[in-house]
Amino acid sequence: MVEFKNVSYTYPNGQHALSKVNLDISDGEFAFVVGASGAGKSTLIKLILRELTATQGDIHVNGFDLNKLKPRKVPDLRRTIGVVFQDFRLIPNLTVYDNVAFALRAIDAPMKYIRSRVPYVISLVGLAQKAKSYPNDLSGGEQQRVALARALVNDPQLIIADEPTGNVDPARSFEIVDLLKGINACGTTVLMVTHQHDLVRYFGGRIININTGEIVFDEVIGGADEA
Ligand code: ADP
Repeated sequence: MVEFKNVSYTYPNGQHALSKVNLDISDGEFAFVVGASGAGKSTLIKLILRELTATQGDIHVNGFDLNKLKPRKVPDLRRTIGVVFQDFRLIPNLTVYDNVAFALRAIDAPMKYIRSRVPYVISLVGLAQKAKSYPNDLSGGEQQRVALARALVNDPQLIIADEPTGNVDPARSFEIVDLLKGINACGTTVLMVTHQHDLVRYFGGRIININTGEIVFDEVIGGADEA
């Protein structure tokens, strides 16, 4: 669950990035976030992850009240969220398996769990044959799927995909959304930031459009794939 009530954010240099944003994303939803460069999309994500704290207003994410969250509790919040970064952020000298396992080892997950969970999420994204490969030996689309597997391995309540299609060829981006839709169908909330209007038109669903720091459109539209 993501809830913004009258949220504004102004950067220390005085730049207003978000103003009076109200947003309510329920558990299990899939929403696209669209908007031109500089509209405020990254700021919105940073607020959800508590990399930034709202200048004004209230934010609740997965049961955490972000205004009241103590710094030592921030990792607890982040454990409920999986993020797929635009530039993947894979570790080049670790195999696909170890890149994915890394997130679980970092939280001291039991070895037995790691051994069953990691192969499961790697096969979920269709990379079982590549578990022993290194990121540089994979295509952009495959690296993307490793990043998705890593975001999923913790079984987060919410997946944030920040322009996940930015660095892969356009045909591949439909596959990524398909994968995210499959994950969403299993109950995970998905928030996907994109510039690709063709994707949004094709899949439809909830579209949140941000323009100069304000939500100017937030509605569910039908997709071409349902036609
Ligand atoms: P988007 O992700 O949609 O491209 P951002 O959230 O990055 O937009 O930016 C929203 C506004 O805040 C823009 O005007 C941008 O220039 C400004 N901004 C972003 N990051 C900073 C920063 N660190 N310091 C000052 N202004 C910033």
